[in-house]
Amino acid sequence: MKLSKKINSISESGTVKFTPIINKLQEQNKEIISLAIGELDFETPNEIKKITIDAINNNKTNYCPVSGLLELKKKIINKLKRKNNLDYDIENLIITNGSKQSLYNIFQVICNPGDEIIINKPFWGTYEEQIKCADASPIFVDTVNHQLNLKEITKAITKKTKAIVINSPNNPTGAIYSKEDLTKIGELAIKHDFFIISDEAYETIIYDDLKHQSIASFSDEIKKRTISVFSFSKSYSMTGFRIGYTVAVKEIINSMNRLQGHSTGNVCTFAQYGAIKALDIDNKITNEWIPILQRRRDLAYFLTTKYFECIKPQGAFYLFAKIDRLINKNIPNATVLVNELIKKANVICIPGEVFGMKNHIRIAYPLEEKRIKDAFERIGKVLN
Ligand code: PLP
Repeated sequence: MKLSKKINSISESGTVKFTPIINKLQEQNKEIISLAIGELDFETPNEIKKITIDAINNNKTNYCPVSGLLELKKKIINKLKRKNNLDYDIENLIITNGSKQSLYNIFQVICNPGDEIIINKPFWGTYEEQIKCADASPIFVDTVNHQLNLKEITKAITKKTKAIVINSPNNPTGAIYSKEDLTKIGELAIKHDFFIISDEAYETIIYDDLKHQSIASFSDEIKKRTISVFSFSKSYSMTGFRIGYTVAVKEIINSMNRLQGHSTGNVCTFAQYGAIKALDIDNKITNEWIPILQRRRDLAYFLTTKYFECIKPQGAFYLFAKIDRLINKNIPNATVLVNELIKKANVICIPGEVFGMKNHIRIAYPLEEKRIKDAFERIGKVLN
């Protein structure tokens, strides 16, 4: 069958690839522990579920404007002011099917063939494939201790640079970038006239009393060049609702709207009512969940550093551990280690290669402390 060159050039999501393996082991009644999960184990709060069900029962089941329900948009504009120090109008906002669709649409509307997009390594694999879908080229720059390497970023800028992707809190490292470094990125974007795509999907999952900083809030000049992407998925355990959103200058938003009008149309109408409720109770959710997640972070970090080198993450729910110490003839790379852990311990992690970095594994810890302990006990038996 002759399929398009484009689809043949695109790889399957490295993280999603593990789902059938997990399912197969479960079918064999293996008691597996997955440290590969990309979502919280908390149930969607009942208030959100109730409002969504009510919306269906009240026949909120039709099309709505492509860019989203006005009521939700007003709430988001208000949230951006309150929480992100960002002042935007309704026309600067589009609601999308998860932040994944926001990112897809952004690359489609800003890229021409041959354009270059800078990505910091390690990175969430979807960026690379979406950039290829937009006929542009990803340009990878190494980070230093998971922080931005401004010298290397500066060197990577060319006349073809269209944008840089910034993801803080970061998947897979859990790193948070400093205001100082983000400001320097802003200065580079102004000087060389490129966009900053700021993926803030994990904005609320942040520890040690740190506060999330949205790069677009730093100055009007930076704001003009920043396309900020947010999500309901991780913050409110609403991954299946598929609701994300983007704020940017009107020209970008109008273009994304035009594209979305011919692809998915609006985000599921009744799901958007659930999102309205999420913004009403967002403080309550964060106050309850963050201390639990921080304890899990501390435990997972403590146990990880027994076997691997690891930088303590300050956000998201991942650790990115270095496995150099274990590399030998029998374990030549992270993929082999991950497969060994699956086979011998029934524990699943994701190899660093999926995030563009060798000799690392990503450990996701959104699970109960007892399960985290059990997972590392099993890992310990294989490694000792
Ligand atoms: N950005 C990052 C860094 C992610 O890790 C993910 C999901 O794992 C997303 C965006 C997309 O999330 P969603 O489409 O559910 O909003």
